[in-house]
Amino acid sequence: MWCKNCNLEVSVERCPICGATTEEDIPAEIFWCDICDLPVITPLSSDNRNICPLCSGKMRHLATDIRPVFPEERLLLAALLDKPLGFFMNRSVWALNSRYYIDGKPINVSAKSFAEADADSIATKISANDVEISYTRFDSDVIKFVCVNRYRLATLKDEAESFVRRTAKRFSSERVVISFSGGKDSTVVADIVTRALNNPSLVHIFGNTTLEFPTTLAYANRYRENHPFAIFQNAVNDEQNFFDVCEDIGPPARMMRWCCSMFKTGPISRVISSLYRDQKILTFYGIRKSESVTRSKYNRVEGDAESIKIRQQTVASPIFFWKDADVWLYILSEGIDFNFAYRLGYDRVGCWCCPNNNQRAQFLSRVYMSNESKKWRTFLIDFAKKIGKPDPEVYVDSGKWKARQGGNGLVSAKDVKLRFTNCTTEEHAKIYQLTRPFDNELVGLFVPFGKIASELGRKLLHETLVLDCKTNVPILSIIPFNQGNAVKIKTLNVADHDSHSKNGELSSKKI
Ligand SMILES: [Zn+2]
Repeated sequence: MWCKNCNLEVSVERCPICGATTEEDIPAEIFWCDICDLPVITPLSSDNRNICPLCSGKMRHLATDIRPVFPEERLLLAALLDKPLGFFMNRSVWALNSRYYIDGKPINVSAKSFAEADADSIATKISANDVEISYTRFDSDVIKFVCVNRYRLATLKDEAESFVRRTAKRFSSERVVISFSGGKDSTVVADIVTRALNNPSLVHIFGNTTLEFPTTLAYANRYRENHPFAIFQNAVNDEQNFFDVCEDIGPPARMMRWCCSMFKTGPISRVISSLYRDQKILTFYGIRKSESVTRSKYNRVEGDAESIKIRQQTVASPIFFWKDADVWLYILSEGIDFNFAYRLGYDRVGCWCCPNNNQRAQFLSRVYMSNESKKWRTFLIDFAKKIGKPDPEVYVDSGKWKARQGGNGLVSAKDVKLRFTNCTTEEHAKIYQLTRPFDNELVGLFVPFGKIASELGRKLLHETLVLDCKTNVPILSIIPFNQGNAVKIKTLNVADHDSHSKNGELSSKKI
């Protein structure tokens, strides 16, 4: 915990000096010691932030956050940058996104160099030379990293464990669930929760999207074997095939991630309702504030967007305020097993074809999952042709497919019961950020505009249509957006689109 007034780290919820309520978040950034050749996670307000806790030498500010670069990724980086393959093996190598720090000196690898890299020849190069992979330097750096940051880890662990015990108090242990994705964050959460509650037989729900990295499935299997008392539930959609659905309604895009509810939250909520019916449960997630702009608005308990879709849950994240560096500090200090994908260089683990993946992640998949990547690219190019893109390969390779917003050009688009001929794609749409998650009550606010017809909306988008009371012509489309933190409202088939918004006072404030 942190007292803002006194600039002091304390272990209690009230500052012993000034009595103010302390904060759970202890803002820290990464400093670098040139003598130890190591990153140190340092609270920003610390008076000693320039002094290395290991050698007492002078440190400098390096970055906002950092992750270790494992020997496998070092090999790949050398191949990509056309260096001798062992070039980075015996150095202190860390990274933040696509910026690598070699012995504390930054190298930026541009999105373009990932996009344009010849993945096939790089894959051949590194597979022929995996003898070059050495963990000697890496392991010795890890020992020092763990040592220099041990105080930070102790504080985080104490705080997270007491948070878990505090939050779980209201729930019997059968109703405590660990959401397990196979990623590093849920790995740490599973470990913390199991220890804090001293209970090896908690329920784990593994959401298998069917689009997982092979390393994720392998890790989930190992986890199961190593935690024989844990109740491990697989949540998987085995009725639909992702690629078949893509053929039908087009690939997901950043703003149209229909795959999330179909292959992730849907199966998870089915498992939960079959296990618990309508009992209230507590789910521990590995959600973190630093992960994205939208997530930074979530509360540590409950406010998670998933909870809209899976209603009976209270959601809590013990590592909400942690940095990537903290998560790695925990994993490396405790020596717990984790997904091999991180060794290869992925900094997050999810669906390998997600439209949210950046060029670096796509490059990794072209190297390590070459067949799937090629199949996906071919599909995307065919799709681009189908919807009449003049330069389908550029549309795909430059990532423009991720920004698609409508279902134009598809068979299914013609199937929709109502067509809005006088409305070009997104012209009359407005997006409203919500101060609380999207729900039916919000839909209810549209009653004054007309007849609510959820059954006529496109189900995959969770769309609700509002019909004109006299003519039954749809006049508004309401679509939850951005995982329920926003709503997209589109006026349809009306002459004066603005008057609807004005008369109805659709201000973001009111919503
Ligand atoms: Zn030092």
